[in-house]
Amino acid sequence: MTNYEYKFRAPARINLIGEHIDYNGGYVLPCCINMYLDAYVNLRIDNKLIFKSISFNNVIETNLDNINYDKKFDWAIYSVGVFYILKKLGYKINKGLEINYVSNIPAGSGLSSSAAILDVTFLLLNKLFNLGISNKDIALYSKMVENEYCNLKSGIMDEAIIALGKKNQCLLLNCSKFEYEYVDINLLDYEFVVLKTNKPRKLIESKYNERVEECNKALDIIKTKYDVKNLCMLKSENLSDIKELLNDELLFKRVNHVVKENERVFEFVKALKNNDYKLIAKLLNESQESLKNDYETTGYHLDSICDSAIYAGAIGARSTGAGFGGCAIALIKKNTFNDFSIKLKEKYYKLTQIYADVYRVEITDGIKEI
Ligand code: ADP
Ligand code: MG
Repeated sequence: MTNYEYKFRAPARINLIGEHIDYNGGYVLPCCINMYLDAYVNLRIDNKLIFKSISFNNVIETNLDNINYDKKFDWAIYSVGVFYILKKLGYKINKGLEINYVSNIPAGSGLSSSAAILDVTFLLLNKLFNLGISNKDIALYSKMVENEYCNLKSGIMDEAIIALGKKNQCLLLNCSKFEYEYVDINLLDYEFVVLKTNKPRKLIESKYNERVEECNKALDIIKTKYDVKNLCMLKSENLSDIKELLNDELLFKRVNHVVKENERVFEFVKALKNNDYKLIAKLLNESQESLKNDYETTGYHLDSICDSAIYAGAIGARSTGAGFGGCAIALIKKNTFNDFSIKLKEKYYKLTQIYADVYRVEITDGIKEI
């Protein structure tokens, strides 16, 4: 890859806690991890846009005048969407480019390769065309691409953490106001690991949008009695009243998850500050139970990998990201990784006849030019 003039990098992310909370206006606690999607770039003299993916062994071509949504853009839909949103916002890109993506973030596994490709594409255009966009706005614009161009009703979490992440810190992010603070992660005796189910996600968009709609439906009913703008403005002491008000078991389960999960985020931050591993583990396990039973976004493979993690010695485990397959995180004692990994893979294989992947991770910076 020596024949490229510029190189930019975006990491993957995990969310420590606060799942399916961003589009419900509450708090989340993500961090960047050391898996990367790199973009190698050359400017062109014509107006062609050439997107290559080494990982996908594929090339998609268009030009600056043909960037309206089109299925033929296939995997490059996110990249083309970046050009579309920039144009809509009035930014001028007056030259074509060739962008070559090289990634070791598994695509479609819940580690947010989609936000990585979005954020890194905004970053490179921002730098090469001096657009003067802040990293915070890169996150907002990336979300616009997902929402308006790709028709996915996702929240701000993934785009925000990948744009704003810092080494050895997670982001306590208020998703309704887009305000945030950094929280140190310096676990002394334990470490987070990432567990990949290797179960391809299917129906993810439709199921994701279905949960968003269920939450909106519940919110409409709740608003007839409570003065709230989103579900995360509710407290767990409101829940028995809300149950009566909703009079709908399924909608109540969704709200029950959202309200309690949002509260778990604050407990988690306290636990991190106090190095309270037991509490961190308890909150991870409670979150997983809630995603499994109330929010119903886990499924057999994520449930099995979390159960296998506990069996193999983890003190806490939960699915991370949108769910329906993808990845989980677990908290294990330092210096136990090899033994943990072998036991987990054996157990998970017995349950699913699939080999899992297990990754040690470091907490890293967000997008940058390299
Ligand atoms: P996740 O964000 O959980 O990894 P998504 O389904 O949201 O999964 O995003 C996956 C999409 O991101 C791919 O379909 C493709 O459009 C884009 N993508 C991810 N990695 C790459 C890559 N290495 N090369 C090209 N496109 C990629
Ligand atoms: Mg994604």
